[in-house]
Amino acid sequence: MIDFELTPQQARVKEMIHQFARHVVRPISLQADREHRIPDEFLLKLSNMRAMMSAGEVPDEYGGEGGGAGEAKDNKGSSQKNRFALIGGEEMAWGDISVLMSLPGPGLGGPPVQFTGTAEQKERFFGVFKQPGLHWGAYGLTEPGAGSDVAGIRTSCKKDGKHWILNGRKCFITNGGRADWVVIFATMDPAMGRAGHRAFVVERGTPGFSCGKIEDKMGIRASETAELVLEDCRVPEENLLGGEAHYERGKEGFMAAMKTFDSSRPMVGVLGLGIARAAYEYARDFVKENYMLARALPRYTQLAQTLAGDKRLLDAARLMCWRAAWMADEGLPNAKEASMAKAYAARAAMKICSDAVQIMGAHGLEQHQFVEKWYRDIKVFDIFEGTGQIQRIVISKRILRDPPNF
Ligand SMILES: Cc1cc2nc3c(=O)[nH]c(=O)nc-3n(C[C@H](O)[C@H](O)[C@H](O)COP(=O)(O)OP(=O)(O)OC[C@H]3O[C@@H](n4cnc5c(N)ncnc54)[C@H](O)[C@@H]3O)c2cc1C
Repeated sequence: MIDFELTPQQARVKEMIHQFARHVVRPISLQADREHRIPDEFLLKLSNMRAMMSAGEVPDEYGGEGGGAGEAKDNKGSSQKNRFALIGGEEMAWGDISVLMSLPGPGLGGPPVQFTGTAEQKERFFGVFKQPGLHWGAYGLTEPGAGSDVAGIRTSCKKDGKHWILNGRKCFITNGGRADWVVIFATMDPAMGRAGHRAFVVERGTPGFSCGKIEDKMGIRASETAELVLEDCRVPEENLLGGEAHYERGKEGFMAAMKTFDSSRPMVGVLGLGIARAAYEYARDFVKENYMLARALPRYTQLAQTLAGDKRLLDAARLMCWRAAWMADEGLPNAKEASMAKAYAARAAMKICSDAVQIMGAHGLEQHQFVEKWYRDIKVFDIFEGTGQIQRIVISKRILRDPPNF
């Protein structure tokens, strides 16, 4: 019933991306962190790797390349896209998380276009990524005052002839400043609650749409996080995702925002694990090099036990992420499992990175040692894509409301 072995194709993709992460990505990691940027020339070189690591972002029918998995199906005939994405994502995050988050592609903007967009909209917005050069999409939900409280967004939208007028501010938007387009969530009227939500694709250069400040962050410093400003921004009616009829049923705009997370949360969980695995391996090698000859020392025993606990966390968390991805591939509802995976993996990863610094003592704080960076990078994994507290709310609602499935 259960097979934990990677298929030969999955194993090949994992190994190829791992070698790439080791020899190409990791070497630029510390410098990119110090300079808060990844050179465009470097990202251009990665274009041919993009297909491997952005599985499912651009659907195959709109020019995607099958996430390196081609048309690979499992023995039940299901797509393996989410599983391939997780396998590749972990390896790339092992190399450097900011490089992964900066890879050109639709990013988090992809799922709402895919789930909600009309055929014409998918053709237009995914079509951007077929053009040569660097192109990004982005996802604009968070606002000052509405992060966890997604339903509380205040960015307004009002119909005006053949346009919508948007006003408001979005903050902490990954790749927002350089994106070709951003999916912006807005409300017709806060009093309407979730039924008032609408999702728009706002293109760069739209009058009234501009980039505010670029955030200076503690971790993932080379990944761009931008503030976006909408001032009487005139968005053509064709850019309302799904068209007006789509929203007649009620909460479709809100659901477009939420559905994104069912596939992105297991991925985010596994990206945190990629960083944590890097930190764990670094600390393990440090213990081997420095204490193996003195195995009888109480210190060695203590450190070895810390590593054993971390390895256990790492493997358990990965299995939870893979299960949620498998469910997404099978088309099974996975909101609970996606939240469980993300919440567990983020906490596990933070502990593992913290242990790695602790194991190395003062050396763990040196800036040329990677663990110092990974310790800073990992914190955000318990914050973005829904904080740990929010994941626990999602899980508790589901276990009390839904029939048990596992
Ligand atoms: C690097 C980075 C990249 C990001 N990228 C994007 C992006 O691309 N697009 C986008 O839209 N957003 C993005 N975000 C925003 C991110 O999703 C939010 O930061 C996150 O949802 C948390 O919202 P908040 O920061 O406003 O915190 P708040 O919601 O203010 O939460 C503060 C604290 O209160 C707790 N809390 C809140 N509500 C509850 C509750 N009901 N019960 C218990 N505890 C609660 C939280 O768990 C947290 O501990 C990004 C953030 C960062 C840091």
